[in-house]
Amino acid sequence: MKERDRLRIAMQKSGRLTEPALDLLQRCGLSFRQSRDKLFCFGEGEPVDLLLVRDDDIPSLIAQGVCDLGIVGRNVLNEFQLTAGEESPPLAELRPLGFGRCRLSIAVPQEFEYQGPQHLEGTRIATSYPGLLAAWLREKGVNAGVMTLAGSVEIAPRLGTADAICDLVQSGGTLVANQLRETDVLLESEAVLAAAGAPPADERGDMLELLLKRLDGVIQVRESRLLLLQTSRQTLEAVTRLLPGGPQPTLMPVAGQPDQLMLQALCAGEVSWRQLEEIKKAGAREMFVLPVEKMLA
Ligand code: ATP
Ligand code: MG
Repeated sequence: MKERDRLRIAMQKSGRLTEPALDLLQRCGLSFRQSRDKLFCFGEGEPVDLLLVRDDDIPSLIAQGVCDLGIVGRNVLNEFQLTAGEESPPLAELRPLGFGRCRLSIAVPQEFEYQGPQHLEGTRIATSYPGLLAAWLREKGVNAGVMTLAGSVEIAPRLGTADAICDLVQSGGTLVANQLRETDVLLESEAVLAAAGAPPADERGDMLELLLKRLDGVIQVRESRLLLLQTSRQTLEAVTRLLPGGPQPTLMPVAGQPDQLMLQALCAGEVSWRQLEEIKKAGAREMFVLPVEKMLA
């Protein structure tokens, strides 16, 4: 194969991962000559180009060395690893990217009396992920028929061609619309940065390292929240115990109220309503959760 000196990233041409993947790469300081309808986008500035393809093709493009990196769902990456055959080199998940979150789950018709995986014994299960499903069934010691479908898996039980399905679920709306009930989660998935097991030994390796550093910075800022709240000194300990992970909070006095403190904490991830309600119950008030725009520690 002809040697390349530019790093090449494969990503989904058109689908759920396209916009967030492009956005992430742009935040990493990469820009590409516009040709969204084409397969190849030339990188301006940095020696990094894009290949726009169907998400299913991304792992094999990396395995073949056509691309160095890929942005793809963990579900697609892991399925490839399980079904690619021994001659295919193992791929690595370099970073979880925090978007495209979903789970690969078993779902059964509402009327199916399901109490656990053993109830799948002897059934037919429709899926687009035969490798992941077979591995899970093996782990659970269940013998079931795996029926591989490329799409519209959720209608198989209604058509009478399958007893259960194993499919991606995000909100669960599709399952409900098809009178199905989610029973077991096989895999928690999100978009990941995938690569060949060994990084390229030439200058592409240096660019990869630089890109990973930028990516880590971008992900850290994107996932950081600044939590501001007021608490009394008496409830400070209880409030602090409930704070989502992150560095030590900063405490500031409140003018004219010696008993009160203003607390500022950098949180590593999303702060949910439930967490806020718990913190409030512990004695906090005047709570704000702010996104972080830039960070230089
Ligand atoms: P392509 O034409 O590239 O093959 P596709 O139809 O296979 O597209 P999408 O439906 O765009 O792919 O999904 C891409 C990825 O988005 C999935 O592999 C999965 O990782 C993630 N994803 C997140 N939520 C969902 C969901 N509710 N259903 C399907 N995929 C989801
Ligand atoms: Mg696909």
